[in-house]
Amino acid sequence: MKELIFLEPVVKKLIWGKEYWTVSAHETGDCLVNGGTFDGMHLSEVWKEHKEVFGVEMDGDFPFIVKVIDARDALSIQVHPDSEYASEHENGAAGKTECWYVMDCDRDGSIIIGHNAKTREEAVSMVEENRWDDFLREIPVKKGDFFQIVPGTVHAIKQNTMIMEIQQSSDVTYRLYDYGRIRNGCPRELHVDKSLDVMMIPHKDANCYTNGLPGRLVSCRYYDVDRYDISGVRDFEKSDAFMIISVLDGEGGIDGRKIRAGESFIVSGGYGDFSIFGRLSIMVTRLPELYGGLEAGGTKMICALGYADGTVIDRISFPTTTPDESVPKIIDYFRDKKICALGIGSFGPVDVDQNSDTYGTILDSPKLPWQHYPLKNVLEEALNVPIKVDTDVNGSCLGEMTFGCAEGMDNVGYVTIGTGIGAGMAVNGQLVHGMGHPEFGHILISKIEGDDYKGKCPFHPTCFESLASGPAIEERWGKKAQELSDRPEVWEMEADYISQGLMALVLTISPRKIILGGGVMHQLQLFPLIRKKLIEKLAGYIHTRELDDIDNYVVPESLEDEQGIKGAIQLGVLAKIEE
Ligand code: ADP
Ligand code: ZN
Repeated sequence: MKELIFLEPVVKKLIWGKEYWTVSAHETGDCLVNGGTFDGMHLSEVWKEHKEVFGVEMDGDFPFIVKVIDARDALSIQVHPDSEYASEHENGAAGKTECWYVMDCDRDGSIIIGHNAKTREEAVSMVEENRWDDFLREIPVKKGDFFQIVPGTVHAIKQNTMIMEIQQSSDVTYRLYDYGRIRNGCPRELHVDKSLDVMMIPHKDANCYTNGLPGRLVSCRYYDVDRYDISGVRDFEKSDAFMIISVLDGEGGIDGRKIRAGESFIVSGGYGDFSIFGRLSIMVTRLPELYGGLEAGGTKMICALGYADGTVIDRISFPTTTPDESVPKIIDYFRDKKICALGIGSFGPVDVDQNSDTYGTILDSPKLPWQHYPLKNVLEEALNVPIKVDTDVNGSCLGEMTFGCAEGMDNVGYVTIGTGIGAGMAVNGQLVHGMGHPEFGHILISKIEGDDYKGKCPFHPTCFESLASGPAIEERWGKKAQELSDRPEVWEMEADYISQGLMALVLTISPRKIILGGGVMHQLQLFPLIRKKLIEKLAGYIHTRELDDIDNYVVPESLEDEQGIKGAIQLGVLAKIEE
């Protein structure tokens, strides 16, 4: 359908200023359509009765609220629950993820995002003792800044600030503090216990891509938001699904209609190509694009769907057999899922050089049917989306660096101890490649006296993998690794070999953190042993803050064994960005 839907904003007068709900179908503020085919209808009715306008198959309520918040005075300090908490404690309500674009503010304006407590106890005592200056994290803002506020984030808009807000359609807010203000003779209600319940501790800024410039501002499971600065004319490609356009600054026009700062409107799904002209900045809100992730392992394939914030919404897994059998299953899974890009974390060796003719092809693999199989090209042909390929271990490393315990770190090592041993590595924030990719499992280590096991690797009798992989443990001790939990001598030896491997990693790429995954590392008793032996082997030769805190330096994977698939999805996100 070809329709622009302009709405009458719902205006809310509040003690601190005004809110203009410019696009909303929420029961507490349901906008009326102003002009066009649906003139005079509520947006909620159009959403329910005219699905053709939106071009999406989606149950439930209209998914967004767009507001302009004009704060004369500071808003109370708030925190929102996530959907899980809200549905349990607030009658099945949705949680609230929101984002803010700063349209205007004072020259020395500020905003509150996050807090400074390291632990829950510290948060409770700061709140109970009213140490708000210590507790609240106040940061400067300027026009053009953008913030993603995920559930659990303590936040507040301060005085003289104008914000364009996009949010999930929900109204659940817990008020933590109201500056002790008295209104009409009494303080406003606070929800301190619930606030402390849902608060993220310690605070972590949501990862989003803004730097005050146009482009993609955020992509999460609820929305994709992009900013465009237009001077002249800009063409937009047609889309099956609707989008919301919000004017942040300036004025212009679309198909004979004038638009100006503060306004938002809906472009129907199937509207077709269109242009916007003028001198203006706009923000475009869309339902989020879905990404595919493929963890192509030597023993099993995992296919999953997720969003750019690492949320995985569906997955399947099946054994890796031959390409003839496995690849059609992969294609069948992704074919009708409308993914916008695919990331692959693959077993090796695989060509990970983006400039090579055989990028994404399996190389001289011991898995003979896969030798020289052009995995990326076959999938690209079948699915017609951009694809990025890296090794499975680099994928896991990326997962931990984007969503897990290594977030924001420059140098990181991820070591898997399973059927094989391998390491993913990042240096200066970039995954390490080169003439091929690292094959860390095959570095030589020293055999312990008394270990007369011949080794598992056909190439190197005393390489790391040869002596310490799951199959090596099984062959040496005559039982599967998982059945040897109660044999301390097994883990004493295993920890020695692993610590030798880690020592090499520490001394080469100087990682800020080493993350250990893979089946064998389910034996958690290995961790204290490995840490102790690593420190002993380094023998005081280097001193760093990270090594002094060894319990937080050598750690298990932090994503419930989803680091690989989340990393693969993130490779998809990068494929889309690089497209
Ligand atoms: P893969 O490396 O094939 O992707 P895994 O990481 O699960 O898969 O590694 C499999 C190896 O890990 C096998 O040798 C198995 O014996 C070992 N393993 C799996 N689970 C455990 C466990 N709980 N404890 C010890 N070893 C395990
Ligand atoms: Zn080897």
